[in-house]
Amino acid sequence: MIPFNKPFISGKEIQYIKEAIESGLIGGNGPFTKRCHDFFEKRYGFKKVLLTTSGTDALEMCAMLCNIKPGDEVIVPSYTFVTSALAFVREGARIVFADSSTNTPNMEAEQIEPLITDRTKAIVVVHYAGVACDMDPIMSLAAKHDLMVVEDAAQCIDSYYKGRPLGSIGHLGAFSFHETKNITAGEGGLLAVNDESLIRRAEFLWEKGTNRAESFRGIVNKYSWVDTGSSFLPSELNAAFLLAQLESLDEVQRGRKAIWNKYHEGLSGRTCTLRMPYVPEYATNNAHMFYLVCPSSDCRNRFTDFMSDKGIKVIFHYFPLHSSKYFKAKHDGRVLRMCDFYGDTVVRLPLYYGMSDEDVVTVMEAVRNFCVDG
Ligand SMILES: *Cc1c(COP(=O)(O)O)cnc(C)c1O
Repeated sequence: MIPFNKPFISGKEIQYIKEAIESGLIGGNGPFTKRCHDFFEKRYGFKKVLLTTSGTDALEMCAMLCNIKPGDEVIVPSYTFVTSALAFVREGARIVFADSSTNTPNMEAEQIEPLITDRTKAIVVVHYAGVACDMDPIMSLAAKHDLMVVEDAAQCIDSYYKGRPLGSIGHLGAFSFHETKNITAGEGGLLAVNDESLIRRAEFLWEKGTNRAESFRGIVNKYSWVDTGSSFLPSELNAAFLLAQLESLDEVQRGRKAIWNKYHEGLSGRTCTLRMPYVPEYATNNAHMFYLVCPSSDCRNRFTDFMSDKGIKVIFHYFPLHSSKYFKAKHDGRVLRMCDFYGDTVVRLPLYYGMSDEDVVTVMEAVRNFCVDG
């Protein structure tokens, strides 16, 4: 069976973890955490980043930093992972789900604007497959209505919108290093704080509601409880693992993009009714995922069975959140047509660093055969 995903391992993880152990510093916010922070601040020019134990944790910090109060409304795409919405639900937000656009599962200003009310506090944008939403119109809309913008950039490492790194455009950005992402720490995440007025508070929330990070830098001599928060920071063991991965980012990206491009070139014009992913001119492709859009859920089922018979694991993606078991009764009843469509029709092909040329060819041949026979 050709698997759908295999996490990348650089080979330096054990060495760095050993160094952390030998240094005696294995709690959070130590030297390896600092080196990961420096990596993001230097390479992408983020003003302030904080490693977290997951992308979900980074999103929970975003919800706290947006100062969400019970009853506040937050606009979130329905075609996304659970925690893009759940992080805000935990703070008492009422989620107003937005539809996707026709060209990509991303939402656009056009889908967001009619949903804004006096109670709207924030917009969560999700850059699906690491391909940017059209951020300029969304940021203007947010400025006009005085709304916070959170980028769920979980899939977006090393991807750009008009030359600007994803995660650096909204007030806040959240990345994930889950084992399914391009770079992984097993579980892990990163918060990017782009609005400078939120930096100080972000550090309090990160360190369990204390000013420990300031005491660490000698700004205050004894740390104490100053705010709400939680234990959002990962141990140095996770940070050491992550640093080993980050140092290989260029190699990982080269490898993944080569596979993505082979799929794209090899399948262009050969996928019959299966639609290829679309990358708008303002966006880059970070090869997080290669998906196809089937014309119907029936066709997708047939495609999945066909590929499975050929020993290839392909998988569906999101089940629309507005019709989930948890949320269905809370949804306001609007039909989210494109979201439902993607929920029924998106299927993802195997794509991971180190996937052999032979396997890529096998997958492409199977897709072409489906189009002829299926
Ligand atoms: C992976 C992912 C998350 C969650 O990240 P975790 O690190 O698994 O908590 C959130 N949103 C999106 C869009 C994701 O792809």
